[in-house]
Amino acid sequence: MPNSINGWAVLDNPPWSDPRLDTKPVPGVPSRSLKLRREVLPLFLALAKDYHDTISPIDEGALDDWSYSYRDARYSPSWSDHASGTAIDLNASKEGWLGMNNYSWWANPAKHRAAQAIKQRYEVVMWGGSKDFGGDYHNGSTVDWMHWAIKPGVTIAQVQDVIKRLGITEDGVRQGTNDKIDRRISKLKQRRQRVRRRIRDRKQAGESWAGLPSRVKRINERIRKLRKG
Ligand SMILES: [Zn+2]
Repeated sequence: MPNSINGWAVLDNPPWSDPRLDTKPVPGVPSRSLKLRREVLPLFLALAKDYHDTISPIDEGALDDWSYSYRDARYSPSWSDHASGTAIDLNASKEGWLGMNNYSWWANPAKHRAAQAIKQRYEVVMWGGSKDFGGDYHNGSTVDWMHWAIKPGVTIAQVQDVIKRLGITEDGVRQGTNDKIDRRISKLKQRRQRVRRRIRDRKQAGESWAGLPSRVKRINERIRKLRKG
């Protein structure tokens, strides 16, 4: 049984309707569905939703978001990770595909910061973007901006672990406050609450609360930056 580049089994029994595949809409984006290996589907549904919310809407213009595909890789003799149902392409017409150095679309710091935040959040996933922008591919012929795939060597158990940690439901809804960014935000919120309480206490006691409101402002600023990824 052949494997794709990342080491996952090609789903070809039969191609396109292998029972290990499942298809579901992206949460909150009913016009876009992903067809993937069952075990990784919730993870990529949540990732696509995060991409939609933080990088660029995926449901505008042409239908250019792809997932399972029974085909070879374009730059190697192996099977594509799309053939094992462990890769997706998002916003192909805007981002460009393999070898197309679409720097103009990505030359927006907010976009590549958000892409890196997604990579951090979904640990087991790699991004085909250029290393220059925090992606996993070297710039040049292999850069593949639209491409997100399970990293080589990652097991089903590791994927399930991340799904659990992020509180992702079967339908790809991420409920988790468990990833690094969310944990940092919730700590900052607790700190903000303590400072606000101190302001209230000092006001009631008729004491000076100078300096404290600017501390709240700084915390708000840090939360805002983290949310932007
Ligand atoms: Zn791809």
